[in-house]
Amino acid sequence: MSENNTEMIDKYDADAQFEALLKKISDTGHPIDTERVRAAYNTAKIAHSGQKRKDGTPYVTHCIAAADISVDMGLDEDSIVAALLHDVIEDTPLTHADIAHQFGEPVADIVEGVTKLTRVQYTSKEDEQMENLRKMLLAMAKDIRVILIKIADRLHNMRTMDYQNPEKQRQKSQETMEIYAPIAHRLGMQRSKWELEDLSLQYLDPVGYKEITDTLEKRMPELESFMAGMKEKIQTRLEKEHISCTIYYRIKHVYSIYRKMYAQNLNMSGIFDLCAFRVIVDTIPDCYTVMGIIHEMFKPVPGRFKDYVSTPKPNGYQSVHTTVIGSEGIPFEVQIRTWDMHHTAEYGIAAHWKYKMNDGGQVLKSGDEDRFAWVRRLLESQQDSDATDFFHNLKIDMFSDEVFVFSPKGDVINLPTGATPIDFAYNIHSDVGNHMVGATVNGRIVPLSHTLQNGDIVEIRTSKSAAGPSRDWLNIAKSGSARTKIKQWFKKERRDENVIRGRAMFEEELRHSGISYDEATAEDIISPIMKRLSVMSVDELCAAIGYGGVTATRVVNRIRDELLRAANKNDKKTVVDKINQAAERREQSAQKMGKAVHGVLVEGLSNCLIKFSRCCTPVPGDDIVGFITRGQGVSIHRADCENYTQRRDDPENAGRWVRVQWAREITDSYVCTVTITAKDRNGLVMDIATVLNSLNAKVRTLTARDLAGGKAIASVTLEVKSSAELKYIMARIASIPGITSVMRNGQME
Ligand code: MN
Repeated sequence: MSENNTEMIDKYDADAQFEALLKKISDTGHPIDTERVRAAYNTAKIAHSGQKRKDGTPYVTHCIAAADISVDMGLDEDSIVAALLHDVIEDTPLTHADIAHQFGEPVADIVEGVTKLTRVQYTSKEDEQMENLRKMLLAMAKDIRVILIKIADRLHNMRTMDYQNPEKQRQKSQETMEIYAPIAHRLGMQRSKWELEDLSLQYLDPVGYKEITDTLEKRMPELESFMAGMKEKIQTRLEKEHISCTIYYRIKHVYSIYRKMYAQNLNMSGIFDLCAFRVIVDTIPDCYTVMGIIHEMFKPVPGRFKDYVSTPKPNGYQSVHTTVIGSEGIPFEVQIRTWDMHHTAEYGIAAHWKYKMNDGGQVLKSGDEDRFAWVRRLLESQQDSDATDFFHNLKIDMFSDEVFVFSPKGDVINLPTGATPIDFAYNIHSDVGNHMVGATVNGRIVPLSHTLQNGDIVEIRTSKSAAGPSRDWLNIAKSGSARTKIKQWFKKERRDENVIRGRAMFEEELRHSGISYDEATAEDIISPIMKRLSVMSVDELCAAIGYGGVTATRVVNRIRDELLRAANKNDKKTVVDKINQAAERREQSAQKMGKAVHGVLVEGLSNCLIKFSRCCTPVPGDDIVGFITRGQGVSIHRADCENYTQRRDDPENAGRWVRVQWAREITDSYVCTVTITAKDRNGLVMDIATVLNSLNAKVRTLTARDLAGGKAIASVTLEVKSSAELKYIMARIASIPGITSVMRNGQME
């Protein structure tokens, strides 16, 4: 790789440095419009004129250096232009609009992205916070080029850190070690990662750093001649075997030696493999041939052979590694890879930023839709679970379903996209949410429905005399946990309200069934039902109906069964008649309903399109409601479905919920999904499958996976005729040893 050749040039002479950069650009052979690059330089030079860096050099030399590193990384024209302009929004009067006008939106967006990252403030925190901070930066970047330029920017700032005061040196080094080096690693950019680590270590532990570099320097002549000798030996042998190869050798980077000493509590003399060789070949078969030859020439150290060619590392890294014992018993590591793998290892994700050419050698502009395709491909090939988690959302659209915001203390809080101050408050603590009276974002007062953006600093204003959450909040909050906490508050604090509400719902349902309140609440009728629902009083039962813990229909159905049983036993014909008449009236009103479609009758609608909602997958026997969707017929939900209970009171959906019921005769089968959690053990899936098979269940899919902590989760999608059949199947599954829960999807907890 070409070294930074601006070093030979007067550090105060920006123009000369820029000309050297242009030469480097044309040397790459990439189709880059140098006039556009020059225009960017001129803009940056004028904008930063008069500004100086701590070492007295013109500020624009920093911009040239960042662009120079971007060229080394192999970045595209827009990136190089943006690198030259990366500090103009932050440090000069130029705006996004100015840059967009002259260099186009994409460049302006990249520069703005870098500016946002620059403005993020760090305080050193525990590991989990750091991980969130790294994710936040990636999420804020939106375009991976923003991150790559930020790394180039940081690399140059670290190279010139000597001119800063000790406090700033420490702070920036810490940040680099905790944030930027790991990001570079995750993106597979070994070269940048090593340099960032070594530069940071120099300021974080100057004594430790010096000990290593001094020792290396002392041993350098010996190590040099050892490595040169080994290279010679390997080269000669491979030439004899007609394998064309290039061999590099190096001393391992300081921080990797430092970490090894620290981890294994060794001093320098205890660290043997300081030397590393790289053999770069043309083809994958050559990698293995070379490995075989090296193992023939030297004694391999057992357990040190690693094949990252057939199983690449999560960050895309590929090589064959082995450690062997050289002459004088000195061990050394050999990495064998192809040129392609080498480029990826050095520059990682940046190496994939290639120019696409068509057959005539013209550059093809890649469309936006294609922009992250290579990132996705790279990431989809990753297998390490930790890194897969890290990149989980990058696969879709760079964390499109998460947003990362700061608390005033600098903690990073991770929320679902679209989250509001309400979600933030409940994430901090229920008490904060319940006493919230207002919120500020980045110092400005915002409405509680305000949508939070990545990097926002959110502060919640609370008051001891706050009235508590309002029911609207249930619709505003985006996170399930915030909604659950709000509901808990209503359940507890608004008991009276729930009792009144629930009692009204209960009485209405009783009226439809021809049962009086007094009949229903007679001791012998109601007490077995209350016992089954674990409530202690009729008020408590009404409260449960009021907040949606149980539906009125279900309670009244049970009361009706209980009354009929008691009446039949005591031969009270009048009661039986009254209840049956009510049922008949219901049946008649059902006839006002349309013809059954898929076994469902919809009030007032005939032959309409019926869709069973996927959130709760109702089956005959469940209490159901219908929702008139826009253009897709009526979707059927269970009456205890969270989507229904949360939305039934939305004013915007008023009039769209309709009464529906199951037809008498059911011929269809209904698809529903059941989630099973269990202690992980051998043969679990097999046992579930055997039970399902013995019940003749119609299983569509059965999947299972391990969770952390020795748990497993399985999901069964099956077809049933009724809720009774489903309940029976679920009960049978629940009796398998090791199963801890069997839940229908969409069931409220
Ligand atoms: Mn900068």
